[in-house]
Amino acid sequence: MASAASSLASQFSGLRREAAKPSFSTAHLFHAVQSQLRLPSTRRPIRSVVAMAGTGKFFVGGNWKCACNHDDYYFGIYNDFCLKPVQILQNGTKDSIRKLVADLNDSKLENDVDVIVSPPYVYIDVVKQSLTERIEISAQNSWVGKGGAFTGEISVEQLKDIGCKWVILGHSERRHIIGEDDQFIGKKAAYALSQNLKVIACIGEKLEEREAGKTFDVCFEQMKSFADSISNWKDVVIAYEPVWAIGTGKVATPEQAQEVHVAVRDWLKKNVSPEVASSTRIIYGGSVNGGNCSELAKQEDIDGFLVGGASLKGPEFATIVNSVTAKKVTA
Ligand code: PEP
Repeated sequence: MASAASSLASQFSGLRREAAKPSFSTAHLFHAVQSQLRLPSTRRPIRSVVAMAGTGKFFVGGNWKCACNHDDYYFGIYNDFCLKPVQILQNGTKDSIRKLVADLNDSKLENDVDVIVSPPYVYIDVVKQSLTERIEISAQNSWVGKGGAFTGEISVEQLKDIGCKWVILGHSERRHIIGEDDQFIGKKAAYALSQNLKVIACIGEKLEEREAGKTFDVCFEQMKSFADSISNWKDVVIAYEPVWAIGTGKVATPEQAQEVHVAVRDWLKKNVSPEVASSTRIIYGGSVNGGNCSELAKQEDIDGFLVGGASLKGPEFATIVNSVTAKKVTA
């Protein structure tokens, strides 16, 4: 898999390839990225700074999906994404939500990270009322236009009314299980943004697409649909989530993820603008956990994470949020 993507990598002039190849020493890394460092506004001597390729703040989102505890989550995932009749023995309950919220409220989270969680719709209100304001709320989906006679759908207006700031759109489970196509997802993004609901725009290839050497083609096609519909990228975070890594325990290597992130940033540079390429956060999703987050976070173009299973455990999610420290270099 790695070789299919690597052979394509040479076709792209990623932003990093325009600069001299950075050395891996701390001093050189600092020098290479100093124009992108977020310096704390303090008169005291600077101790550490976040070194990132983009200019956006580190971002970590938790996608609670349709499950509210870890065991439910994996029971569902490992049954072919619920395509077979799955008995989820004990689906998320108010009690499991209360415990997760309490754990998150007790967590110590680094300051320089945007943190969001995305509960199932039915629990958004209760989570909003009990969760620390440090963490913003996202929906997992939204209707494509203004609310009306669309049975079973949830409108952007309603999400805003109950305090959502974000919505996840284009998640692979909605693309490949529910059947949403690129254009429909692009229209959803445009509508959400028009109503000031910020968007986590998901892209990513399936295993057979990666093996066929189509990783970049697929991601760029999905990017194009978003770009065709989005005029203002200020409130957009891109989540690169290879489908083969979601809920499988098979995380992309830091190099695999970085390679796609560079290519997506380069695509933005060429097809939208250099400013958007620099300021738009590109986060990685797919089996991120407390053990692998730091190595992934060290990659220059990984601006954060979208986390499924591991976001259902408060302390582990906090570890992932705090992996921003792996990006810090001494100044
Ligand atoms: C996701 O669903 O967005 C996701 C990344 O899931 P997981 O972390 O469980 O792979």
